[in-house]
Amino acid sequence: METIFEAQDFIMNTGVEQKICGHAPHAIYEASVNKLHALEQMMSFYRDGSETTELNRHAGKEAVKLSQDMMFVLEQAQAFAQLSENAFHILLAPMVQLWRNAGAENKLPARDEISKTLKLCDSGNLVLDKAAGTAYLKQEGAMLDLGAIGKGFAADVCCDLYKALGATSAFINLGGNVKTLGSRPDGKPWVVGLQHPDQPRGKSYGAILCADQSVVTSGAYERYQVIDGRKYHHIIDGRTGYPSASDLKSVTVVSENSMQADALSTAAFVMGLRKGTDLIDQASCTGAVFFTAANEVYLSKGMKQHFRLLERFPCYEL
Ligand code: AMP
Ligand code: MG
Repeated sequence: METIFEAQDFIMNTGVEQKICGHAPHAIYEASVNKLHALEQMMSFYRDGSETTELNRHAGKEAVKLSQDMMFVLEQAQAFAQLSENAFHILLAPMVQLWRNAGAENKLPARDEISKTLKLCDSGNLVLDKAAGTAYLKQEGAMLDLGAIGKGFAADVCCDLYKALGATSAFINLGGNVKTLGSRPDGKPWVVGLQHPDQPRGKSYGAILCADQSVVTSGAYERYQVIDGRKYHHIIDGRTGYPSASDLKSVTVVSENSMQADALSTAAFVMGLRKGTDLIDQASCTGAVFFTAANEVYLSKGMKQHFRLLERFPCYEL
């Protein structure tokens, strides 16, 4: 008989919730937890010996051999950077750190520090040699950060694993990065709540109904520093070096591919409603929901059938 197994863990610096339905769901869960630990060891920005840390340590010195998975993530990241004209890119860590330190000291970074740091954040600093299986960061001080794409990749890997091990239905939420396998065990679609940007965690303004899809949100409210009483959020506009200042409070992207949804939600958040809509329409994802600074909700083409509005906001189709 099929049973459902549910569990919560803390991996990749975030809460991980899994629901797995199948013949031996506990064994599937154990396999996915092992895989998540291995992916953390591969991608972590903080762990000694991770591939990210090794690349960063050898910046400006020499190329580093990568695993196949890591090469795949970096290649995909470069493709998303190109598609989004660098609104998303994985070399912004020096700027993220500058702002984190500024928060700790409660002092805004000086303009010349921002311009100096911007040079280290050039997306051209990462050189991949697919034939040799290596990557090289050209400038000393340049740093890779997979914070905006890694959880999406991990969700894809876990869903592939669930399927390969015989799960009939499953759900994984990696710190707000959701992916589903099939529909719910009762045959109905999974319902993924969309966090209201200005209200306490758990309060949704809308929901996505989905099966075999991923739902990923990027928002200013998720992580931020307070400097001189003002909030500075964690998503950087690589053109200015400042936290992005678009007309959006959050963007949710729905796609069969969670890595794509993760990268594009970050990119669209930086790009704003108009350019973000063009990006989503161009990409092969299912669609996006934009929550604007003016508290309006916009749905990209094809999203209406997947979206339910739970609060009385003006809601428009693009
Ligand atoms: P997400 O929550 O997926 O939008 O990713 C945000 C995280 O990615 C941040 O905490 C940073 O570590 C990193 N990051 C910040 N700005 C960008 C950006 N424009 N492109 C890619 N990664 C970014
Ligand atoms: Mg992201």
